[in-house]
Amino acid sequence: EAEVALVGRSNVGKSTLMREITGHSFDTGGKPGVTRNPNHYDWNAEDFVITDLPGFGFMSGVEEDYREEIKTNIVHYLEDYADNILVAILVVDGKSAIDIIDRHSGPDEIPYDVEMFHFLRELDIPTVVAVNKMDKVDDKDERLNELCDRLGLYPPWKQWQEIIAPITAKRGQIDALNEAVRDQLHEQNRDDL
Ligand code: GDP
Repeated sequence: EAEVALVGRSNVGKSTLMREITGHSFDTGGKPGVTRNPNHYDWNAEDFVITDLPGFGFMSGVEEDYREEIKTNIVHYLEDYADNILVAILVVDGKSAIDIIDRHSGPDEIPYDVEMFHFLRELDIPTVVAVNKMDKVDDKDERLNELCDRLGLYPPWKQWQEIIAPITAKRGQIDALNEAVRDQLHEQNRDDL
């Protein structure tokens, strides 16, 4: 069955978003890193499943080795199922993503979000970046432009609305994401013609 894959660092609001998309309730606000294996759920009223991959990156109380193992598992899963994955949704925290990316950018370090974005593109998996927690962001356009810049997308962000989707999952404001995913799916149908 066709699949939409959800990836993102811990605590960006993946569980909250999953709840909005599927109508199921998920364990939110609990111990980070609790989602350890890919889980499949039906996307409301759509003809595909949504796969929740474990959160990656820093998790308090989780050993470095184990974090690496989780990341390796995510990478393998995406490689193995790339042909089946229609769209990937990379969830980031709109409030802190830029700071985290900049803190981890260096000569021998690539920030997770940037690495994951490029990795998904290398696998030819159409990717939407769900920029969550926009309720906490004041300078919305500026922040989204910066994010585009870090991801290698030429600003302004408004020309990337099929890729950059600002949302507030907690309040159920996810129209931009639904729209972007729909656009990506239509794009593929056109390519198949
Ligand atoms: P996960 O670790 O990625 O699954 O993240 P959760 O869904 O558990 O959310 C982590 C924290 O972020 C929780 O305290 C949520 O209430 C909060 N959160 C999720 N979405 C939003 C949002 O849109 N806005 C704000 N302000 N907080 C959010």
